[in-house]
Amino acid sequence: MAEKRWIAEALFDNLGFRMSYAVERVLYETQTAHQHLVLFENKFFGKMLMLDGATQITSRDEYVYQEMMSHVPLFAHGKATDVLIIGGGDCGIAEEVLKHKSVKRLTQVEIDAAVVEFAKEHYPEFTKPVFADKRFECIIDDGMKYVAQTKRHFDVIIVDSTDPAGPGAVLFTREFYAGCKRCLNKGGVLVTQNGVPFLQANEIKTSIGHFRKLFADAACYVAAIPTYVGGLMAMGFATDNKRLRNASARQIAERYRKAGRFPTRYWTPELHVGAFALPRFIAELVNAPKKK
Ligand code: SAM
Repeated sequence: MAEKRWIAEALFDNLGFRMSYAVERVLYETQTAHQHLVLFENKFFGKMLMLDGATQITSRDEYVYQEMMSHVPLFAHGKATDVLIIGGGDCGIAEEVLKHKSVKRLTQVEIDAAVVEFAKEHYPEFTKPVFADKRFECIIDDGMKYVAQTKRHFDVIIVDSTDPAGPGAVLFTREFYAGCKRCLNKGGVLVTQNGVPFLQANEIKTSIGHFRKLFADAACYVAAIPTYVGGLMAMGFATDNKRLRNASARQIAERYRKAGRFPTRYWTPELHVGAFALPRFIAELVNAPKKK
């Protein structure tokens, strides 16, 4: 019997460890114009997507990340009608955002057309409802260029990017965040994926440093995604409306009730509020240095 193939996540080679996954079947593998893409089946995690050797989503735990990147900014804002996703190729976040009937228009700006075409074939659970929804539009472009040039404005911007390498590197720069600020409506919210602080401390620290120069409120919230190894993942949260992050669980629950209490598997009003309570080592990473 042929030996089983194992696919390793090479993201932490520099730290001297690798996560490897046994491959039941390779469903799709290609080198796109921007990155290496492989989709394979794993006995426990189901369908697993890796871009340039980094795990993007798995069928088993995708809901944690997708729900926390979508419902926290939308329920914190409370009145968002115009939403922008930067990246988001697999459309998992778009599917969550469109559960909010209050959203009138959702624009996704993805750099890699091959990822969107691939997702239409291999992630119909996301792409079918999303591309059938008249509120949705997908633009193939570099997110950095789009936010620097668009004449449109948004209430919420969700940066569902790859890690700060390759095509995703620009999405962690001050210039990019300044571009996001430029096309945010007054009191709008920006959220970003910022890796796992225990292993990638600089990602959140650097982004929050940039946010602090651009926004009145620069913070982060956390969630545990099993295949984003290393413990809690950090998501950046930036806005000029300081009150948004202080909404109580009761206020968030009321907004959720008005939104029709659509089913979730991770996000709850109580967890929404609790996610901003950071473990001390992450708080020390992101809190402004005390003035002497
Ligand atoms: N949840 C995943 C994570 O946290 O690692 C990210 C998922 S999503 C697949 C990431 C998407 O960002 C990819 O489809 C990639 O092509 C896209 N992307 C990377 N750099 C980009 C850029 N500069 N502009 C727009 N999209 C970009």
